[in-house]
Amino acid sequence: MLPTPVDGLEMPRTGPLIDRFGRQHTYVRVSVTDRCNYRCVYCMPAEGMDWMPKESLLTYEEVGRIVGVLARMGVHRVRLTGGEPTVRRDIDELVARLGAIDGIRDLSMTTNGHLFAKRAQTLADAGLRRINVSIDTLDPEQFKALTRGGDLARVLDAIDAARAAGLTPVKLNAVMVRGENDEQMFRLVEHFAPFAADTQVRFIEAMPFTGGIDRRTHLSAGEMRTRLAERFTLEPVERAVGGGPATTYRIAENGLVVGFISPITEHFCHTCNRLRLMADGHLRTCLSREPNPSLRDVLRGGADDDLLEYAIRNQVWGKVPGHEAHLESDWKAFEGVMTRIGG
Ligand code: SAM
Ligand code: SF4
Repeated sequence: MLPTPVDGLEMPRTGPLIDRFGRQHTYVRVSVTDRCNYRCVYCMPAEGMDWMPKESLLTYEEVGRIVGVLARMGVHRVRLTGGEPTVRRDIDELVARLGAIDGIRDLSMTTNGHLFAKRAQTLADAGLRRINVSIDTLDPEQFKALTRGGDLARVLDAIDAARAAGLTPVKLNAVMVRGENDEQMFRLVEHFAPFAADTQVRFIEAMPFTGGIDRRTHLSAGEMRTRLAERFTLEPVERAVGGGPATTYRIAENGLVVGFISPITEHFCHTCNRLRLMADGHLRTCLSREPNPSLRDVLRGGADDDLLEYAIRNQVWGKVPGHEAHLESDWKAFEGVMTRIGG
């Protein structure tokens, strides 16, 4: 069910950052680069991509200004993503800059982990609070194939380093591809259960981006849940207000918290509280749609913070109700490439 416009609502000039549907935006995912050292099969086309030119990327100062203006409208959660955030030079400088912004209470990162282990403590010292690490399988060869060249051992080291640096709870993201890594659900649960105190595993439905996976290999969150429930007892965990879209359960047998994220089969557009700032300054108000004009051009045109705030409010006001992709729809339903948008 998609939201409908709220009668009589007008675009506010102050206060919370809301859209026509009355959804309040409190969370921004900042893609710091479209580049990546992996090429996951569901994320990047096999033939690779043309990277954004370096000069088109927001500088750290520019990201800081945009996040600062978002914070005065009530955005308090920031996640750094990409592409792979750790391939951008001196990423800890950006962490420190964002962490110092008044109102930012939660600063996290999603990473593939390849370069993370030796940066973990520096990032924690700079103000990073938590990380999500993508890990779809515990089979090194399969991992290499799914990521087109990734090194599982480095990712496992990253998870250990994150725990040691206190970047907890470490949430592990596993995109499930039918007939490929779906059996790994059980291995992931068993492997990480001993770390249940500070580690969670979230199973994610693939989204239909260009260059992504095929419809026939899509595995719904419902089916994942059913299959896991055949082997384990899943006890529902109450969803935190303003928390993420995962439906979470605690596994009675081992205490591990697992989540299921279902952007297609049980979409959560009506509660969407997030924005995506792409590395070149485009604000993507909905993951499924092409972005708005770049905020970088607004900034580089000399806008002060009030004008920047107005530009952001305008773009958010124009946010679409959501996406209507479903398993039978066009399987390139989401516009663009995930690594460029920032997952
Ligand atoms: N490189 C980092 C990583 O892999 O964690 C951050 C960027 S990546 C785009 C962010 C998340 O998006 C990852 O957990 C990845 O598994 C997920 N993702 C990428 N393509 C996807 C797709 N087509 N459907 C669902 N999730 C996807
Ligand atoms: Fe890179 Fe992350 Fe996309 Fe994999 S999911 S290609 S690691 S951006």
